[in-house]
Amino acid sequence: MTMDTLVSLCKRRGFIFQSSEIYGGTGSCYDYGPLGVELKQNIKRLLWRDFVQSRADMVGIDASILMHPTVWKASGHLDHFTDPMVDCRECRLRFRADHVDTLPWTHYCPATKGNKFTIPPGEPCGHCGARRTLCPDCGKGELTAPRQFNLMFKTFMGPVEEDASVAYLRPETAQAMFVNFDNVLQSMRMKLPFGIAQVGRSFRNEITPGNFIFRTREFEQMEIEYFVNPRDAVEGRAADEYWHDRWIADCMAWFRRYGLSEENLRLREHEKDELSHYSKRTVDIDYRFPIGWSELMGIANRTDFDLKQHAKFSGKSLTYFDEERKEHVVPYVVEPAMGVDRALLAFMADAYVEEEVRGERRVVLRFHPELAPVKVAVLPLLKKRDEIVRTAHVIRADLAKQWRVVYDDTAAIGRLYRRQDEVGTPYCVTVDVQTVGDSEKGEAGDGKVTIRERDSMEQARVPIDALRAVFHDLLSGGAWSQVATRFERQIEK
Ligand SMILES: [Zn+2]
Ligand SMILES: [Zn+2]
Repeated sequence: MTMDTLVSLCKRRGFIFQSSEIYGGTGSCYDYGPLGVELKQNIKRLLWRDFVQSRADMVGIDASILMHPTVWKASGHLDHFTDPMVDCRECRLRFRADHVDTLPWTHYCPATKGNKFTIPPGEPCGHCGARRTLCPDCGKGELTAPRQFNLMFKTFMGPVEEDASVAYLRPETAQAMFVNFDNVLQSMRMKLPFGIAQVGRSFRNEITPGNFIFRTREFEQMEIEYFVNPRDAVEGRAADEYWHDRWIADCMAWFRRYGLSEENLRLREHEKDELSHYSKRTVDIDYRFPIGWSELMGIANRTDFDLKQHAKFSGKSLTYFDEERKEHVVPYVVEPAMGVDRALLAFMADAYVEEEVRGERRVVLRFHPELAPVKVAVLPLLKKRDEIVRTAHVIRADLAKQWRVVYDDTAAIGRLYRRQDEVGTPYCVTVDVQTVGDSEKGEAGDGKVTIRERDSMEQARVPIDALRAVFHDLLSGGAWSQVATRFERQIEK
């Protein structure tokens, strides 16, 4: 499966649209559509449930995107969050200096009367042997010397555009957890080790965004800052190192739990020379995206760098009182940081299956039921029979009190099933003549409906009044193969 396949499915089925599409789009900005927003919310909800709500050592915050400008001085973003850039003096296009030679380049060849060629990245011209020196895009302009370009979006607070009112859109959510460290510590009476989590938007003025929602200028993150006492030992190891490995294992397990396959996941240790200035050790969880192996999340040991920096710049003490040793310590912090949009892309890519069913191509998104944007589709077998339609609507309304449930009668049943397969709906409920009976013939209905499971395409006949309980089991992790044994089963015809 290619990225194009995914992009087209996302647009066609209402997961993700290009932002401001009717105006020609905004560079690498995307809008989540009706199904995309459900999927994304499910991812965030599961992250929150599994990493915050269910743990006694975790709490959350939701901080504002605009922060005091000195935050970015202290964090190092003002001085270090830069990429070396070059500009074309002709066409004004801007490139990352270290990317220029990874692009195909335009060449007007003197050996062929100035004919225009597009030459593969890094290769010389086959006619004159020249190598690229000019702008790779227009092939005419000279490039400026590299300049450092800050990736933070700059704006102004209040009505006056002057230096004193400069503000930045946060490039990461992490800093809000550091500057609120003492607030959380005091208000919640936390004891080390403990963590603060946040899910929210961040902004980076990337020069070369791309690959759909993989790298965008506006994105959503979940970051956790997990504070530990560096003087403690756990299982004979320094606490920060122990907890770093624990978080790596927990995050890997989380991705597997919701469906990412083992063979598409790997850990990548950062080399010493690629470590950020604050990091003692960083490990990435890489995913095999349609564009190849790339970072899905990073888990860094940021040491006491951030708390010390903010203490220095704010003049406030950001320490923890170690009761046992009767001394103040600056905690170390382990930071699991995940891009929510990237996680969504990985879950979609991994769920995507094309298969042949009785000579026809079937596209299925095999989402984990807790991730699936729609949990149940209620379908009438005959839309001309009022009693069938009415019953289907009643069932939908009842189930929709708990889950995202849709009703569809716009095609024949086979088509309707395929449509739901393609958006990953794990279960369909079909109401037919048997369900409602035939009053004209004096035949009573059996009050049962057919549940059809997406992956096996197996069906089971279930009483309407058992549906809530059945879906409660199925949608909270119960296996179809277990639950369905309680009812008559058959295979989709
Ligand atoms: Zn140019
Ligand atoms: Zn040439």
